[in-house]
Amino acid sequence: MKFSDRILQVKPSPTLEVNALANALKAKGIDVIGFGTGEPDFDTPEHIKQAAIRAIENGKTKYTPSGGIPELKKAVIEKFKRDNNLEYKPSEVIINSGGKHSFYNLMQVILNKGDEVIIPAPYWVSYPPMTLLADGTPIIIDTDEKHGLKMAPEQLEKAITKQTRAVVINSPSNPTGAAYTKREIQALAEVIGDRDIIPISDDMYEAILYDGFEFFNIANVSEKMKRKTIVMNGVSKAYSMTGWRIGYMAGDAAIIEQVDTLQSQSTSNPTSISQWAAVEALNGDQSTVKDMVAAFDRRRNLIVDGLNRIPGFSCMKPNGAFYAFPAVEKVYSMKG
Ligand code: PMP
Repeated sequence: MKFSDRILQVKPSPTLEVNALANALKAKGIDVIGFGTGEPDFDTPEHIKQAAIRAIENGKTKYTPSGGIPELKKAVIEKFKRDNNLEYKPSEVIINSGGKHSFYNLMQVILNKGDEVIIPAPYWVSYPPMTLLADGTPIIIDTDEKHGLKMAPEQLEKAITKQTRAVVINSPSNPTGAAYTKREIQALAEVIGDRDIIPISDDMYEAILYDGFEFFNIANVSEKMKRKTIVMNGVSKAYSMTGWRIGYMAGDAAIIEQVDTLQSQSTSNPTSISQWAAVEALNGDQSTVKDMVAAFDRRRNLIVDGLNRIPGFSCMKPNGAFYAFPAVEKVYSMKG
């Protein structure tokens, strides 16, 4: 069979592969715990499920505008104002079919062949393939434990070329849980300065932070930086809604318009019912988020302590998200 060069350069998502492997072992009756997929084990909160049921009963089951219903755009705008002190107009906001769709579509509309996207490692495994699928070139910056697994401004400076189109900032990070402080973000913004580079702020884990860590977005550095930045977020992780497939992004109206055009010619609107559920998630009671974060925090302490007790393992305590990412290279040099 002949396939496109485009698809042949990417492999299936390794996260989904690890998950499939764990499920196959479970099916054989083996007692394994899957640590692959980034998915809260909590049920979607009841009030959100009820909003979806009401949407079905009220006939909200038809096409919506490809970029999302005005009610959800409004809820997103209010969320940005309330949580991030960022102001956007409806033309600067779009609803996508999950956070993955947000990033994929952005790559499709901003990249030409050879354009470079800077991605600090360890990274969410989908960033490079989605870059490749848009004919872009992922430029990986290696970080280390000494720098908290975060990209340093000097590293960013060194990685920038004439082809650099965007840089990914994912704080708190999948898979390390590392989050950037305000000062660290400001230093990265200084490097970007007046250059024609889009900071992509993937804030998917913004709601999941520990020990009072204060979230800071590069769009908050200055009005100039806000105009450059595309902010991405979604309901998947904060509200345990991974299956509902709602993500959103905000930024330059011209970029948002192109993403809307792409959606109108590909997926059309994100599921109407999920959009109504997301309105409730963003506007409704936020106490379930706090409860989930408290449970993640207890588990964080347990797993990080446990991992650090394994000879050869070292695991940084995550500032946020629900990941633990131990370094295991010392295991390979151990005797026995
Ligand atoms: N960004 C990051 C950093 C993620 O970890 C994920 C999910 N693993 C997403 C975006 C996408 O989330 P979803 O498509 O499930 O909304």
